[in-house]
Amino acid sequence: MILDKNFFFSQHALNIFRICPIRFQKRYIEGLYWKDGFENRSIETGRNFHILADRYFSDVSLNMEFFEEYGELNDWMDALKDYVPKKARGQYYPEYQLKIQIDDIKLQAKYDLLHIDGSGKLIIYDWKTQQSPIGYRDLASSIQTRVYRYVLAMGGHRLKGESVDPEDIIMKYWQPAIADRTVELSYSIRERESDGRFLKDMIEKIKGFDYNGYDKTKSKRYCSRCEFNYFCNTDRVKYGHLFEQEEIELDDWADIDEIPI
Ligand code: SF4
Repeated sequence: MILDKNFFFSQHALNIFRICPIRFQKRYIEGLYWKDGFENRSIETGRNFHILADRYFSDVSLNMEFFEEYGELNDWMDALKDYVPKKARGQYYPEYQLKIQIDDIKLQAKYDLLHIDGSGKLIIYDWKTQQSPIGYRDLASSIQTRVYRYVLAMGGHRLKGESVDPEDIIMKYWQPAIADRTVELSYSIRERESDGRFLKDMIEKIKGFDYNGYDKTKSKRYCSRCEFNYFCNTDRVKYGHLFEQEEIELDDWADIDEIPI
């Protein structure tokens, strides 16, 4: 079985491969993916915050009273309104998806918020709903940062109406629980070129990977929180402990063993 030719790589899919190629194979090549119904409280709160932020920037009524955890979400939404008051000039694009294809490399990114400001700068906002601060280094080196900035640099002309200068891109990570802190990452032509090579190499590696020959013990530290634990190890899957999406996004690249081809 091979990857569908219309598959667009997201940062999430790349991270899944990075921690375990077998997990990638099962999800994206064999299509064995289900969304479990056992969301823990923090995942649910994070998801609800993203829904409310989308409504706020789309000028849709928030209807906060329908959210069970009204108190914390209310505080977070107040913090968001202070942080991005929507008064600045320019356009706001919440939950915006962008896809690019360069030769046979297909990538996609879904942004929490894109703002093209009055001076033509493109600002990527990403909400992280963990309670503890996420380090600058983890964010700067994450696959998410690479994919999001690169896709915008290469595909943002469709939004902006003209080619995008990487120097005009700024990525801002913001945690509503720590509202006075933003991690801000600029971009450059050099970084765009480096990301392009990195992502091309990684996608080619994934396409040519010998999944049958992969030694699963290289990924064993992730098994206990993987939905395929029963397939691989006949161990019970504890749904409440499955990876949170953001945890996967932020795994430190340097800590991951190089996956051999
Ligand atoms: S159970 Fe372990 S080896 Fe199997 S797919 Fe998940 S992380 Fe990979």
